[in-house]
Formats: sequence, structure tokens, C-alpha cells
Amino acid sequence: MNDSDVVSLPLDLWDWSLTLGGWQPQDLQKHLFCSLYAHLLAGNQRLNLTRITAPVDFWEKHLWDSLVGIVPWLPQDERSQAASEFKPELCSWALPDPLCVIDIGTGGGFPGLPVAIVRPDWQVSLLDSTRKKMVFLESLVQRLGLPNVRLRCDRAETLGQSPQFRQTFDLALIRAVGSARCCAEYSLPLLKVGGIAVLYRGEWHPEDTLALDSALRLLGGELLQVQAVTTPLTQSQRHLVYLRKAEPTRLDYPRPVGVPARHPLGTGA
Ligand code: SAM
Repeated sequence: MNDSDVVSLPLDLWDWSLTLGGWQPQDLQKHLFCSLYAHLLAGNQRLNLTRITAPVDFWEKHLWDSLVGIVPWLPQDERSQAASEFKPELCSWALPDPLCVIDIGTGGGFPGLPVAIVRPDWQVSLLDSTRKKMVFLESLVQRLGLPNVRLRCDRAETLGQSPQFRQTFDLALIRAVGSARCCAEYSLPLLKVGGIAVLYRGEWHPEDTLALDSALRLLGGELLQVQAVTTPLTQSQRHLVYLRKAEPTRLDYPRPVGVPARHPLGTGA
């Protein structure tokens, strides 16, 4: 990575630790975040990767937002529990370490790339069905030098039915890809039994929980927790929906390409 590949971001101006359970990035991680930003801006001129381009928005809506979903698994010794918005029981969710993670519908690499940067010990697979985005991500990952990242251009429905990938991940991350029920159908078949899916959502209402519950019963999943968080700069509401795969998902799921999005489970469709 050349220095010219890096755009300076005032990363020290913003408070990571208060809202990320006490976690702070190291210098190398800050350098990688700046490089990620520079390459995303450059790629955005050719490809429609993101509308979030101002430095302050990039920090809050891409970096912070990606990392807040994995607070329960950020390094323990750097975490101040008192500062965390999360409930303490969340942090004891047992998963084997290091984790095998998949980011479903990664787009420009979110939340998967920030996660891969802060957890170099995890293996992080980025999945997206849009080839041009994956070509961009391939060169980005090479330039950043992230040996723990794998790339896969495919549909979540196809991967979920592939014996090579079905039931092989510990943690699935999925942001801005579809309805919660659709995200559950994409993610749960890919998880090992006991694995956890993190659905990054904006608004969340009690009726969303009801609708999701009926889909989870079909998929062998259970709702662990819905965690409300407030973004640190613009004070917007976000919800992190944590699901656990309690038992193997029936082979009927995920349904063929396009069906989960058109007919979300639990609607009688
Ligand atoms: N997760 C990123 C983020 O939050 O910035 C990108 C979100 S973008 C709105 C949705 C992405 O999901 C697109 O890049 C699209 O190609 C991908 N996608 C949608 N459905 C998919 C599917 N069934 N399998 C794989 N990728 C999918």
C-alpha cells in the first residue's frame, strides 16, 4: 500500500470507545480505514458503490455502523463494559474463536471489510451477486493486504444450497439487503448450528418481531436479542437483530433465487 493510496481522516476526533464498548482502533487499523476510504472514493467514480462519501458520514455510517454489530466479539481486554450500550449477557454468547464469518450482500464491503480489519484473526467471506462490485473488492482487498478476506460472487440462495458452503459459518452479517425475514432465509442455512446472524436494521417495531418469529420457526432459528443503538454523531436509531441457529435448517430453505425477496417466509406465500 502506497501513502498516496491513503486519505487522511480525522479518526481521533470521533469517540469510538464510548459507543463501541470501550474498543479503540490501533494505528495500523486507522491507516487501513483511511486507505479503505481513499479506494472507495476512487472506485465510486466508476461504480455506484455508495452514496456515503463525506468523511464524517463514512466514519459514522460505514465504519462505526459496521463495527457496532460485532461489539459482543470485540477484544475483551479493550472493552469497558460500563460504557457499552449492550446488555452484559450479550457479551457471553459462546462462539468458537477465531470465527468464520460471512457478509451477505456486501456491496462496497460493508460491514465485512471494517470487521476484517479489526479482527485479522477471523476469516471473513464477502458475498455479493454483482460481479463489478466483486471485481472492485478483489483489487481493494489486495491493495489493503487483507489475507483473511475471501470473495465470492454468487447469490445467497445458491450458496445456501451448496454443500461446500451450507452450514459452514459461525457468524453471518447482513446489512441493507432486504426484509428481516428475507435476511433470515439468506443467513440461517449458511450458519453452523449454534451460529449467530446479525441483521443490521434501521427502525424496528414489535410487529417486526412477530413476523420474524414465524419465519424463524421454519428456518430452525431463534431470536436472541434486538438491540437498539443510537449513532454517535447524528443520533439516529439503529437496531441490531441477533439470531441463533438452534437446529439444522430444512433443505427446502433457502428457496430458489428471487423467491425469498418476493415472498418473505411466514406470510403464507
Ligand atoms: N451491505 C452493503 C451496505 O450495507 O453498504 C451493501 C448494501 S446494497 C443496498 C445491497 C447489496 O446486496 C447489493 O450489492 C446487491 O448486489 C446485494 N444482494 C442483494 N440480494 C442478494 C442476494 N440474494 N445474494 C447476494 N447478494 C445480494
